[in-house]
Amino acid sequence: MAKALSYPLESPPKPGEAIALAGGVHWVRLPLPGGLAHINVWLIEDGAGFTLIDTGMDLPEVRVAWAGPLAGYLGNRKLTRIICTHHHPDHVGLAAWLAELHGVPVYMSRAESRLLREFAGPEDATRPADWRVEAFARDGLESTERLRPTLAGENFRSVVSGVPRDLRPLEAGDALEIGGQRWVPLEAKGHTDGQLLFHAPALGLLISGDQVLPRITSNIGIYPERADLRPLASFLASFRALAALDPEPTVLPSHGDVFVGLRARLEYLDTHHRATLERVLTLIEGPVSARELADRLFRSPLDSMNLVLAVGESLAHLEHLAGAGELEAIEPPGGPRRYQRTVPRAPSRTA
Ligand SMILES: [Zn+2]
Repeated sequence: MAKALSYPLESPPKPGEAIALAGGVHWVRLPLPGGLAHINVWLIEDGAGFTLIDTGMDLPEVRVAWAGPLAGYLGNRKLTRIICTHHHPDHVGLAAWLAELHGVPVYMSRAESRLLREFAGPEDATRPADWRVEAFARDGLESTERLRPTLAGENFRSVVSGVPRDLRPLEAGDALEIGGQRWVPLEAKGHTDGQLLFHAPALGLLISGDQVLPRITSNIGIYPERADLRPLASFLASFRALAALDPEPTVLPSHGDVFVGLRARLEYLDTHHRATLERVLTLIEGPVSARELADRLFRSPLDSMNLVLAVGESLAHLEHLAGAGELEAIEPPGGPRRYQRTVPRAPSRTA
């Protein structure tokens, strides 16, 4: 039985507010629509200013928070740089806007910068405008009026302030010092292609992005723009390095509260995903597309964003099982691609 998590702080900051933690780290909570309701971002004292890790989504209420109460909190201290854990809009949304405001660079891994450009950068003329829509159709998710803005990436662009002009690479293993403290960037694939987590050994802190969250499981899916076609395997493999952090750090997650119990949480997540794989197998009698599996795996009705995430997550599980030899993909002309159980082969007979 895994140990329960503990939450060392009495109360989290309210959305739009910040509180100081130990070691020059400040916990900022920003409003976010939908079920998540908030994202946590981190200000770390850095000489005369602060390094900011993640930025919040580009929404009027988040700009108001940065321009009002948080500007007051910063006082006359400026940002020194912005680092984004990954390209999702709640993490990178205001990076371009804040970078202009403070005249600072933005750092991200190359894989995440590529994904950000893919969505928020100028259109690629060599690629048909509908390429994402077509890729989803291959797995049975047909474009409708309602789904189109999500499938085509319009929704993403509407909550991201653009690609930062001064975007610089930061990779796992690079030296990173913030306010005289060593913060080690760790690569954590699976949720996306090149998410970075940040570990401060001397402070006993781990900024865990969306990789390890205390109360919800992050989305592990396959999407048309992603290079990693085995995200579930990548996600589970990332746990090894995290579980080996010694002593076990206090976790600063992007959603939910600061917690202690990293290894217990990793153990839970590992068990959860392996159980989901088992469940997927029990749900497959005949050939099934990712779209069809999403209906069986998730409670409907889902809004368009969650439907797209559900299909991506279903596809990741189907592909994982196909990789393990449990399923095989069949793709008739005109699609969609469906997965069925592999027939155990009879042992070949020799005469
Ligand atoms: Zn994310």
